[in-house]
Amino acid sequence: MFYADLSPYDYSDEGETFTDVTDGMRFVAFQPAYERLNIGWLEAGFSWTSGQASQDFGRRLLAVIDAQQVNAMLGLHECDLCPTSLPDTHPWYTPRPGDRRASAGTGEIRVPGSPGTVFAAPSLIGHYVVDHGYMPPQQFVEAVLAFDLYGAWPPKCPGIRFPWVPEEAVLRRVDDE
Ligand SMILES: [Zn+2]
Repeated sequence: MFYADLSPYDYSDEGETFTDVTDGMRFVAFQPAYERLNIGWLEAGFSWTSGQASQDFGRRLLAVIDAQQVNAMLGLHECDLCPTSLPDTHPWYTPRPGDRRASAGTGEIRVPGSPGTVFAAPSLIGHYVVDHGYMPPQQFVEAVLAFDLYGAWPPKCPGIRFPWVPEEAVLRRVDDE
């Protein structure tokens, strides 16, 4: 699906479900207390900006993607910018030959922006940047470079590497289900 960069996110109004894949803290559900702005929802047939991302940005973006998983239950997104669709025999989570990142992915990421806003991107944004030369808006690049993945954790949900889990968040561990 396509959403213009920096447009308001309305893909899911079911709230956010956040998993920190680095420490086993899983499926923390909450209603966001922040505004979400779309980044990197690319689709063939819609124009997008290409450019040369700095190595530093690429590396930090991939680290953000590998640390969190938001709304993963919304399903698998497959890149349709790749010239051919993924053969059934190719595991979706394995990069295609010559690529650095898999061309399909589940879920989304959140990156804190200016106060009260976050950027909402599909996990596939890593593939778009490193394998297709997608260049996100400058404010997103700056937000990724400024995102302290290992900074202070909110007291409400220890272990979640995300600063804005609101007070009323419902904490749900996968072990509870
Ligand atoms: Zn692709």
